[in-house]
Amino acid sequence: MKVLVINCGSSSLKYQVLDMTNESLIAKGLVERIGLGGSVLKHEKVGAAEKAVIETSMKDHKEAIAQVIAALTNKDYGVISSMEELGAIGHRVVHAGEKYAASIIIDDTVIKVLEDCVELAPLHNPPNLLGITACKELLPGTPMVAVFDTAFHQTMPAESYIYALPYEYYEKYGIRRYGFHGTSHKYVAERAAAILDKPLSQLKLITCHLGNGASVSAIKNGKCIDTSMGFTPLEGLVMGTRSGDLDPAIISFIASKEGKSADEVINILNKESGVLGISGVSSDFRDIEEAVKSGSERAILALKVFAHRVRFYIGAYLAEMNGLDAIIFTAGVGENDIDMRELITNELNRLGIKLDLVKNKVRGKETIISADDSKVKLLLIPTNEELVIARDTYALTK
Ligand code: ADP
Repeated sequence: MKVLVINCGSSSLKYQVLDMTNESLIAKGLVERIGLGGSVLKHEKVGAAEKAVIETSMKDHKEAIAQVIAALTNKDYGVISSMEELGAIGHRVVHAGEKYAASIIIDDTVIKVLEDCVELAPLHNPPNLLGITACKELLPGTPMVAVFDTAFHQTMPAESYIYALPYEYYEKYGIRRYGFHGTSHKYVAERAAAILDKPLSQLKLITCHLGNGASVSAIKNGKCIDTSMGFTPLEGLVMGTRSGDLDPAIISFIASKEGKSADEVINILNKESGVLGISGVSSDFRDIEEAVKSGSERAILALKVFAHRVRFYIGAYLAEMNGLDAIIFTAGVGENDIDMRELITNELNRLGIKLDLVKNKVRGKETIISADDSKVKLLLIPTNEELVIARDTYALTK
């Protein structure tokens, strides 16, 4: 059975087609500038010499998905003869609130629940829903599954997810820690168990998803017991452009000093802060590392602050789990940034965490990077959220 995986952003759409008989990727693509003019679809058939680039007007997600369908069935660069060949569609959905702790087949009730969750994820759930409705209209006979970023974290105990606010805000508005990047944390935890050749149910793991957005999770005996992102993906680690944790009183202080509204300040915390804000250079770690080479003190500081916060969470989760078997690095920075992995794990020897500086000189490859005598294993595991979505979709619809 072939599965189409769709990840809709506000003006973009990423997709993959996987053949679930052997979990192989057969095509992938990206649509950009949906509804903005200059829309473009870049489609790649695995094994083909070049990408197909389709530049045509796509005024909404429905038109974009119609173009994806045309590309998938194109006689030159398509991968299926008709859409009937597609067994199911898996949609990445960011927020399911407390409603779903696992992936689910999409029906009208699920769509209604996701609409109710829009206020919890106003930037993410609306485009996810647009993708779902467009597929429903264009491919009414194809079953669809929603796979949630928040689902994996639903196992957290209340002491991890309750904020110390008046309890009624949790009851009335659902204000609590939800956590994100769940499919990634889940995938790398399962891969870690396979690499370590131990059941996940007997392992204490800390998974570090360090990309543009970044989060750390504590996974004890296969269950997430804590994670750094919170009510929104703004909490926790310092990120590319997001501040992560800070004293909430800073928000009204900046608002009054700069004559801004709370929403405007939150926008700054989301888009102009993080390593970009500290370094003044870029949100991309490659640019910041270039700036370090030319002596930028603020670039050096940005990297140190980032590493400090990751270490801070590693220490906290080690204590929460009363022990640790492995730390996993994944996503853009975690998979590729050799120096950052070194900066994070430096001087943790007394905790039984010892990086092998030579083994660490690797990018984007599933491998062990700790020293042989390190009590805690350090693993590099490239994430694969699409595969998790395809697997769940296949399992629920086959
Ligand atoms: P997201 O999916 O959240 O957009 P990714 O997981 O793709 O992010 O991570 C993107 C980030 O990874 C880039 O902004 C960059 O900072 C970092 N990155 C990618 N490659 C490298 C590299 N070779 N060295 C250092 N950082 C890298």
